[in-house]
Amino acid sequence: MDFTDTPEEAAFRAEARSWLEANAPQAQPTGRLMSMEDPEAVKEQQDWQALKADAGWACLTWPEEYGGRGANAIQNVIWNQEESRFRTRVNIFSIGLGMLGPTIMTHGTEAQKARHLRPMLRGEEIWCQLFSEPGAGSDVAGLRTQCVPDGDDWVCNGQKIWTSGAHYSRWGALVARTDPDAVKHAGISYFILDMESPGIEIRPIQQIDGGAGFSEVFFNDVRIPGENLVGSINDGWRCAITTLMNERASLGTSVQGLGVEALIELARNTNWQDGTALDDPGVRRRLADFFIRSKGLQYTGYRSLTAISRGATPGPEGSIGKLVGAPLGQEMASFAVDLQEESGAVRGADAALEGAWQASYMGSPAMRLAGGTDEILRNIVAERVLGLPSEMRADKGMAFREIPTGSDR
Ligand SMILES: Cc1cc2nc3c(=O)[nH]c(=O)nc-3n(C[C@H](O)[C@H](O)[C@H](O)COP(=O)(O)OP(=O)(O)OC[C@H]3O[C@@H](n4cnc5c(N)ncnc54)[C@H](O)[C@@H]3O)c2cc1C
Repeated sequence: MDFTDTPEEAAFRAEARSWLEANAPQAQPTGRLMSMEDPEAVKEQQDWQALKADAGWACLTWPEEYGGRGANAIQNVIWNQEESRFRTRVNIFSIGLGMLGPTIMTHGTEAQKARHLRPMLRGEEIWCQLFSEPGAGSDVAGLRTQCVPDGDDWVCNGQKIWTSGAHYSRWGALVARTDPDAVKHAGISYFILDMESPGIEIRPIQQIDGGAGFSEVFFNDVRIPGENLVGSINDGWRCAITTLMNERASLGTSVQGLGVEALIELARNTNWQDGTALDDPGVRRRLADFFIRSKGLQYTGYRSLTAISRGATPGPEGSIGKLVGAPLGQEMASFAVDLQEESGAVRGADAALEGAWQASYMGSPAMRLAGGTDEILRNIVAERVLGLPSEMRADKGMAFREIPTGSDR
């Protein structure tokens, strides 16, 4: 493992840092997450994205012809490290820029690339991912939303769920069934969906923290122009895999949440009996445990970085990062809320760090589901890293129409 920047990387880091110091609107040292429903916060993010785009810092790894910088993966990591000192890591463009843009670049037509990539990069048009359905989450290829041809168009009926940012997205990437007689992965197509089309109904889902960052989305005879098909008819699974591989790569190897240093700081600033929580041997033992596990995760992440810097592509072992980081983040947030005793139940401006740990605690279960649940990641590690036998797949080789469901058999 090599932890130090090369001279070129150090120069790149200095350039990034100096631009950020001159231009980043406001430091957010607590790592508080912005509310995804607040229109003002959305606008603020869009302004920041446009500023970055105009200076060539919007999406570093994208090719220059689409407004990117053509930077390598390590430069992108350096930029993210530097930007995270100023901004929260959650951003409303990550689905578009990290997952859907690369899918359009790989499988889209020249007209689709020309129409969509630049407004996406500048944050002018926000995108959402319409994959999961009530009966198709981990097994997304089991989706039932259907598109049937009608003249040059397609007509879509069905339902998606857990669509992050559906309510402020201008466009969506939709996977839908176009051939129910084919085996399940083979009868799917991938579409660009205008979220302002007649027949789309968006119903926000209330979360435990009172927010509503994601929604159910219903399609009632929604017309999709034929030119919005990405890739070929019934070849949508290949495009969906491109999206999902980019999602996995973007999740990275880090503790989800505010991090162990912030937790130590909280203990240092929490008054307990005659001193602070940090003076308590039991607290120190827990903090030491969190610290060791966090560092293990960080150094495992450096292993991947070193591999990337030598030109390797990250493999399925990347799943380990989220599998360890998401539960660890949840445990640390739970401990932080306990440390605050009765005040742990207080949220908002009156709470320590304006309730950042409470927000992290309430958001932490979601981190164990989004982008692959713990169990699915364990399956990936078992089958693709350890080489254990694969799960039984009872529907293998069966036409989708013939697969039994709870409702019809
Ligand atoms: C914060 C957040 C944001 C999201 N944003 C989006 C979005 O923008 N767009 C989108 O399309 N989706 C989104 N999702 C949905 C997400 O992709 C799904 O929640 C995820 O794929 C799991 O699917 P599910 O919820 O249907 O659970 P299911 O797949 O029904 O799983 C239920 C339980 O069964 C377990 N399980 C399932 N299959 C197996 C198996 N083969 N072996 C062992 N155990 C198994 C799971 O681990 C889980 O515990 C989001 C989810 C969250 C939490």
